[in-house]
Amino acid sequence: MDPKIILETARNREEISAIEALLLLQEGPAILPSLFELADELTRRSHGTTVTYVRGKRIHYTNLCRAECSFCSFRRKKGQKNAFVLSPDEVVRQIRESGSARQVTLKGGLNPDLNLNYHLDVLRSVREEFPSIHVEAYSPSEIQFIARRARTSVGDVLRRFREAGMDSMTGDSADILNDKVRKKICPDKLRTNDWVDVVKTAHRLGIPTTAMILFGHVEDEINTCEHFEILRNIQKETGGFTAFEPVPFMPQGSPLAKAKKIKSPPPLESILRLVAISRLFFCRYIRNITVDWTKLGLAGAVEATRVGANDLGTLAVDSHEMRSPEVNGRLVMPAATVKSAVAKAGRETRERAPYDARTLPTIKTRKEELVLV
Ligand code: SF4
Repeated sequence: MDPKIILETARNREEISAIEALLLLQEGPAILPSLFELADELTRRSHGTTVTYVRGKRIHYTNLCRAECSFCSFRRKKGQKNAFVLSPDEVVRQIRESGSARQVTLKGGLNPDLNLNYHLDVLRSVREEFPSIHVEAYSPSEIQFIARRARTSVGDVLRRFREAGMDSMTGDSADILNDKVRKKICPDKLRTNDWVDVVKTAHRLGIPTTAMILFGHVEDEINTCEHFEILRNIQKETGGFTAFEPVPFMPQGSPLAKAKKIKSPPPLESILRLVAISRLFFCRYIRNITVDWTKLGLAGAVEATRVGANDLGTLAVDSHEMRSPEVNGRLVMPAATVKSAVAKAGRETRERAPYDARTLPTIKTRKEELVLV
């Protein structure tokens, strides 16, 4: 098929298929200028020239994890140096320290020592202390793990978490939604169908989520396009995704990087191509494409905003600096530097509100549904 026809289809805001997305992924570099130009045009139609971010804090409540994802350099085993579990008070203290965060993201490993009550205590403590902060919490794999540990359903856990203060869930742990690849890179995490079930359950309960892909490791282009299609099908059914984030694999001494001798993240050109194709593929369905400058580098993230991305995600921001939203904000950049880099790309930076259920008027909830996942 002529790739120009695929681009024309997308230009008319018609849906491109997974096969067409695959062809765009496999085309030679000659396609890139017109692909990038079109992705930019579609982004401008929806968002103008504004690039957004949200002031927030990301807190890992534990790094103890019984899973062994080969791409992960975060997890620790019991007794290992630097292993930790935060108490609910410590979580609250860290949010307080962040000053002006409008959103907190709570994430952690699959830690069998933390029961349902621990998580409810964390959520209630945060809600009590910060009544108006947006609480984005957990991933489908954590939710399934907590539910199994508590011998209850995913729906029950999500309902209780929502009552305790959770506003939205991360779309993490999607990684690559293909069970053969998952067996290689995250054999202990939930399977594709389970990820889909947890996400749909959350959406039906009125809990929006983000969506993501982890790319640039052992997956192939077919896996990528199948992953895209699974996400778009969910969105057509529930309308519960707020944003899509393509996350490049960062080797950082992970077991996978060592085993496969991967020394660096995917090249910027591949990252930009994926960002652009995701804008075309999700165009009418997922409004926001997020990129993280703490992973892509500032220049890479700014380039991404010219080829389909409209959002820089969560950043720890004060009047002078923008930092990585992690607990200790390791990556620091003067706010003026970020804003002027974005301005040089012909965009303006604007702080936004957290993505919540109100930003998704189309979410199809079935709050009273009996969920048996
Ligand atoms: S579930 Fe996997 S990615 Fe998450 S902390 Fe554990 S090992 Fe790391």
